[in-house]
Amino acid sequence: MKKIAFFCIPAHGHTNPMLPVAAKLVERGNTVKFYSFDEFAEKIKKTGAEYVSCDPFLTELTKQEEQGLKEISSTEMTIQDIRITLRMDSFLDEEFKSFQPDVVYTDSVCFWGKLNAWKHNVPMVVSTSTFAYNQLSSQYMKNSPKEIKDLILGMPRVSKELKKLEPYGYHVKNVLSLIQSDNDTDSIVYTSQRFQPYGESFSDHYAFVGPSVFSTVIPDKKKERPLVYISMGTIINDRPDLYSSCIEALKDQNVDVIISCGKTLDPKTLGVLPDNIEVKPYVDQLDVLSRADVFITHCGMNSVSESLYMATPMVLYPQTNEQKAVARRVMEVNAGTLLNDDSAEGIRSAVRQILDDGSYAKAAQACCDDFRSCSGTEGAAEFIETAPHTSESIDVVKELNKANTRFMIFYWIAVILMIILTALFITRRNAWIIGAAAGYLYPNFANTFREQAYEKLTAYKKQRD
Ligand code: UDP
Repeated sequence: MKKIAFFCIPAHGHTNPMLPVAAKLVERGNTVKFYSFDEFAEKIKKTGAEYVSCDPFLTELTKQEEQGLKEISSTEMTIQDIRITLRMDSFLDEEFKSFQPDVVYTDSVCFWGKLNAWKHNVPMVVSTSTFAYNQLSSQYMKNSPKEIKDLILGMPRVSKELKKLEPYGYHVKNVLSLIQSDNDTDSIVYTSQRFQPYGESFSDHYAFVGPSVFSTVIPDKKKERPLVYISMGTIINDRPDLYSSCIEALKDQNVDVIISCGKTLDPKTLGVLPDNIEVKPYVDQLDVLSRADVFITHCGMNSVSESLYMATPMVLYPQTNEQKAVARRVMEVNAGTLLNDDSAEGIRSAVRQILDDGSYAKAAQACCDDFRSCSGTEGAAEFIETAPHTSESIDVVKELNKANTRFMIFYWIAVILMIILTALFITRRNAWIIGAAAGYLYPNFANTFREQAYEKLTAYKKQRD
């Protein structure tokens, strides 16, 4: 029996998947202490874990900081994470001394969990509530100009805050090493290896356990008419404009509609609702999804996982770069379509597309089968109990980097030779054109080579495993 310390940031999307894991660990006879925030206390206590309140360590926010957090600014989130870590320092020193955890299970962006596991030398497992990101899968994340500006302008502030960690015994190379897990970090990811982009590039330190949910409900789509479910998640859900367009789009359709509008918006502001449409601040999302035929979603990782777990195809309306990455993967497996036009007409047409073309529902069902064949919370609990782990499998990313370097050297030697031969035997004046063309074409060749090398390496890895 182990003593396990759970740490998470104050966010539903990050906390929710950790809850069934906590419940499973308790059921298996372990002692779980869950360091979280009062908003989540009830949910946590229900798992059987001991809830420890970290509310006193939340920092007072200025209006600008609050706005930054609302807009999911990486700079603001990093700075607040560091400040909370510093405020919790002596409290957690005492907790680690008295509780003496065997394992720390921490959310991937919860700095105080990670930093204290390192400081107190306790084996750590990281809970990854999004996709796992490495050199390959991070190609799915495209930063918008606004996000790039936020990252660049925020650098001096972030490095100033990072420096404050050192005197407390927290040694950090750079901010990336705090946020991104490498191939040697024991990590649990709540999706399948098949759905994870470049899933085979991760080592045995990664456990792809599938969606972490409490529900034992099996999808049942039999009913008189289709059900459309709409939610923008729990963070940026104050979107009366979108909900009004959805109402306009679907009021005359032969469908039932449930809108989860979030707790900040008063449903009354949406006017008198047609008979086929219900608006609620919060719903039992898994229950609704088990019956829904289409989900209009902001593409939060949990929402998408839950949707596929319940075999519900989606209309994808991502807002952040992380959500865009999730949407892209859903489209790759054909379980949803992108909402390019968020007018009433655009919404109606996207919903009809999903309802009228059975291939989306079929693809969502295939994902549902795949997710349900994963090891689930049982697998996650076992992985945590038996941490730290070793990896025998070949490191695909490392091998791929070696192959890419070989390709690059070969490519440029060939180009130089061609330039020399052209200059010697054809035209000296225009030989530079070969170099320019080679430079222009290089990214395409390199991409194709990388994809082929990845396929070969993963086939070899599977054969060896
Ligand atoms: N959720 C819910 N009921 C609602 C709206 C959301 O239970 O009415 C849950 C949903 O099941 C999911 C989480 O809140 O587990 C939202 O997480 P997600 O990662 O999708 O989005 P975020 O809220 O983090 O943007």
